[in-house]
Amino acid sequence: MKKDKVKIGIYELTGCAGDALLILDCEKELIDIFSAADIQSFAMAKSDNIDGPLDIALVEGSVTTEREIEEIKDIRQRAKIVVAIGLCATVGGIQGRYKPHSVWEADYKSVYGETEMTHTKPIQSQPIDAYIEVDYYLPGCPIGKDQFLNFFTRMLGGNPPEKYPQPVCVSCKHNENDCLLTKGEFCLGPLTADGCGAICINHNLPCVGCWGPIEGANYTSEYHLLKEKGFDPEFIKKKLANFSGTKIGKLIESIEKERP
Ligand code: SF4
Ligand code: SF4
Repeated sequence: MKKDKVKIGIYELTGCAGDALLILDCEKELIDIFSAADIQSFAMAKSDNIDGPLDIALVEGSVTTEREIEEIKDIRQRAKIVVAIGLCATVGGIQGRYKPHSVWEADYKSVYGETEMTHTKPIQSQPIDAYIEVDYYLPGCPIGKDQFLNFFTRMLGGNPPEKYPQPVCVSCKHNENDCLLTKGEFCLGPLTADGCGAICINHNLPCVGCWGPIEGANYTSEYHLLKEKGFDPEFIKKKLANFSGTKIGKLIESIEKERP
């Protein structure tokens, strides 16, 4: 008997759409991707989209409006497996950069004043697991092509995606780069998940943390190390909060008091 193809939906919430674009950019593999799976919904790629039951939903972007809360809950309800793809969906991305809610509200008012929003109500940006249970995460800003194809093939075969438990420093050393941190540059490699193969440092640019935090990342230690190297505490906190703010917000508030 012919096996049914895996039903997949690819969705975009708030973000730059870079992850959806990255999937479309798999030019050589695109026909195989669309032949191997039953892509039910992918707004950037096709117009005949169906909102039915799914085996796997891939969601990029963070939740920034009340309508998106309803959207993500609907996706969760229809899909057996939900995967957060890209940094906005996994940890909130740059628009989820940590700030206390009162500061966010003040910033919002300074831009929009009392303007009434008729389409939907904006809310402070959050990753999708703030509202639904997420089965797997594929971070990156955007996700990498090789990682996506590896992930896609594994998921079609019923296997969980690969994890990226090591920090960027591991690939960096493997590639025999000189350590920028020891040269006094601001590098977040020790805190960041290594899915990119240290691509920035390979080109002599420091890591800014776009793959998001590794499990067990020692933020306190890196914070004090950078301070000892002469970086301004507020600058360090802003940089730490840039890509991973929603996950480490509370830590940032207390990081000054904690000693490594
Ligand atoms: S340059 Fe950055 S990523 Fe490379 S070893 Fe140093 S701290 Fe780690
Ligand atoms: S080295 Fe850091 S900033 Fe550069 S792509 Fe990798 S995770 Fe992102």
